[in-house]
Amino acid sequence: MSDKMNFQADVSKMLNIVVNSLYSEKQIFLRELISNASDACDKLKYLALTNPNIAKQSGQLKIILSADAKNNTLTVSDNGIGMNKDDLINHLGTIAKSGTADFVKNASENGSAVELIGQFGVGFYAAFMVADKVEIITKKAGDDAAWKWESNGVDGFEITSANKDTNGTDIKLYLKDDAKDYVDTIYLRQIVRTYSDHISYPIILNLGEAGEETINSASALWTRHKSEITEENYKEFYHHISHNFDDPWLTLHFKAEGNIEYTGLLFIPSDAPYDLFQPDRKNGLKLYVNKVFISDKVEALIPAYMRFVKGVIDSADLPLNISREMLQYSPLIEKIKHGTVSRILKELKKRTKNYDDYMKFWKNFGAVLKEGIYEDFGNREEIAGLAYFASTAFNDKLSSLDEYVERIKSDKKNIYYITGDDVNVLRNNPQLEIFNAKGIEVLLLTDPIDEFWVQVLPNYKGAVFKHVSQVEDDMVLQREETKADEGSLQKLVTLMSEMFESEVGKVVATEKLTKSPVSLTVENGQMSLHLERLMRNHQQQTAFASTRILEINPYHPLIIKLADMTMDESNKQKIEEIAKMLLDQAKIAEGEAIENPSFFSEKMSEYILKSL
Ligand code: ADP
Ligand code: MG
Repeated sequence: MSDKMNFQADVSKMLNIVVNSLYSEKQIFLRELISNASDACDKLKYLALTNPNIAKQSGQLKIILSADAKNNTLTVSDNGIGMNKDDLINHLGTIAKSGTADFVKNASENGSAVELIGQFGVGFYAAFMVADKVEIITKKAGDDAAWKWESNGVDGFEITSANKDTNGTDIKLYLKDDAKDYVDTIYLRQIVRTYSDHISYPIILNLGEAGEETINSASALWTRHKSEITEENYKEFYHHISHNFDDPWLTLHFKAEGNIEYTGLLFIPSDAPYDLFQPDRKNGLKLYVNKVFISDKVEALIPAYMRFVKGVIDSADLPLNISREMLQYSPLIEKIKHGTVSRILKELKKRTKNYDDYMKFWKNFGAVLKEGIYEDFGNREEIAGLAYFASTAFNDKLSSLDEYVERIKSDKKNIYYITGDDVNVLRNNPQLEIFNAKGIEVLLLTDPIDEFWVQVLPNYKGAVFKHVSQVEDDMVLQREETKADEGSLQKLVTLMSEMFESEVGKVVATEKLTKSPVSLTVENGQMSLHLERLMRNHQQQTAFASTRILEINPYHPLIIKLADMTMDESNKQKIEEIAKMLLDQAKIAEGEAIENPSFFSEKMSEYILKSL
């Protein structure tokens, strides 16, 4: 019986990219196959915990490399979980994982497929970089039937039944003419030492008549003493567990002692993953119980705001027989999470001492970490202390809250902030004019999450967060410039209030503007206009829409003139036209879309022409 199947379309495209654009990095195929073999051994070990029959059958778990120089083949074998027919079809060919399509898209956009290959779970296909034919013989633990899967990596694959005594998988590569080096045992030894030394199972080189040789350290890296681990070892282990290809920005290896003991080997990547903000993203921690891999889906192990952390937690104190589902609710897991989070936060604090270095982390993951200010009540202040923000005090340097608080000159301790999408747009927001004039620093917050945590963190080290719309009444400027005549100003305000009744709640003359004629803001303490826009973008009802205020600057020549014009009834139409343009101007400065852009640009050209 034989089944011929075509590769699913995305698989074909992906294979094409892998095979044709990764020449220089060919040897990573071995890392990927060994990594899969190691995963298969992990799975068997886990199954054996609850299945005495399988436990009895499985000998020492290992990975064997057999090179055949005469026939130009290399076989990677493991005695792990193995695959049944469905597994072969689902994992190696037709029903592409969601990652495959993402891989194709990203690789064609960035052209750096090598860094993506592991991340998107398409590592197996790297075999076709060196082989023009791959033959897999596999038997799933507990099954009687064995299967053969073979493919040339171009159009499809064929599955037939096969004979195999023991569970596990043999992957035989028929090496391409330009890949014959991979039968050279010296070369193989060197590749394994470089990329796969950290694998916990023995990787054995089958030397035929000359016997066998274990070529890696074959002990779980996190159980070794720090002094025996090189930076390279850590790095390769990070690549293995994270499927990333960058170097870790942070490596944290620790042993926690006390009422529960556990070891952690944690990493923070140097690059942000493509799916950091995708809602279905899993966290990056693998849970082991006494070196047995249990799950990489224990959500309770680390909070969502640390979803960028990769690594391993291993505790011998967790019960081995507990189901993966039950683990989510285990109080022991809660304790481990608590301890791990506080270690990471402490380590991050240390790293803030080197600003440039810390910024590498902050630019990638700051927006995620800040979710913790909102979510993690217990660590709120500490996380806020790790946050950096753009500020009116600097052009490109970011500033911590501690630094801001230190710079506060007034006795009244307020941390002023403004929110929006873009730092440069914010810098020019008219709402900042009074602050600039008074020399008061304002933080420029541009991550959506900022809107939320400022509402739950009442103060930082005694200083109170205030949106710029909450400017204090006593924050006035001594002004000597000419001001619009009070009577005509009142007339203008009334006229504009009536005109814009449906658009803004109020029109008021303000003392706060020094440069702009107008500005849009909200009633003190209400939802910011930026948050309103965010909610609208997410189709959230803005039932609690804020009262908008159009502020006009009675010192601005344009407003003075316009106020004067109200004294003559015949100007009415003109005033209305200009008032409309002013409202549009205020919206643009706030980062808001205007209702009728063509009216605005038409009028704009008309007025420019008049001035020429
Ligand atoms: P990933 O390892 O990220 O899942 P791969 O392309 O490397 O992606 O492997 C695809 C899948 O094929 C694996 O998830 C696994 O289910 C299966 N697989 C590959 N190699 C083996 C093996 N040696 N033993 C058992 N299953 C394997
Ligand atoms: Mg893999």
